[in-house]
Formats: sequence, structure tokens, C-alpha cells
Amino acid sequence: MKKIICATCQVEFEIPDSLYERRQGDGDTFYCPNGHPNIFKESLVTKLSRELAQIKENLASYTSSFEYQKKRVGELLRSNTALRAVITRLKNQREKKHGR
Ligand SMILES: [Zn+2]
Repeated sequence: MKKIICATCQVEFEIPDSLYERRQGDGDTFYCPNGHPNIFKESLVTKLSRELAQIKENLASYTSSFEYQKKRVGELLRSNTALRAVITRLKNQREKKHGR
């Protein structure tokens, strides 16, 4: 439970954590026991902090995806090189057999 003080009548009341978080996120109205509407106004710092955290999260996810793709390309290049070596070896064997 989170303690709230009504912006109108200053009565202290409690709301569940889940509702508190939801209302902080969506900025919707909730009411004190006396029926006064209350809202959370997000401060600029809070808003920017939240956006920055989201951006950092996205960046981390893109970075890890990029690292994965880079690793995958490396693997494919190595496997391509190995296959080329096999093809060359088979070609050489065939040329020897046919005496060319
Ligand atoms: Zn009130």
C-alpha cells in the first residue's frame, strides 16, 4: 500500500501498490475517501528518466542482437571457407583420376 495525501482536503489515505504504479504510469484520476479527484503529475525529470531508461533498454537489446548477428556471420564465413576447401579437394581428386 502507498500513502497518498489528497491534493484538495489533505486527508491521508492508502492505495494498493499496483494501482499506484498504474496511475503514475497512465496519469488517470483516482479519488480520496471524500471523493476528490487526484492525479499524479509526472515531473519532467521523471518523464525524461523513464524515456532514457527505455532508450537504454532498446539500445542494449539492439546491441545484443547485433553481436549475435555478427557472430552468426563469422560462423557462416568460416563454414563457407571450409566448404570451398572441400570443393577444391574434390575437384583436384577428380582431375587426378581423369589424368588432367
Ligand atoms: Zn480529498
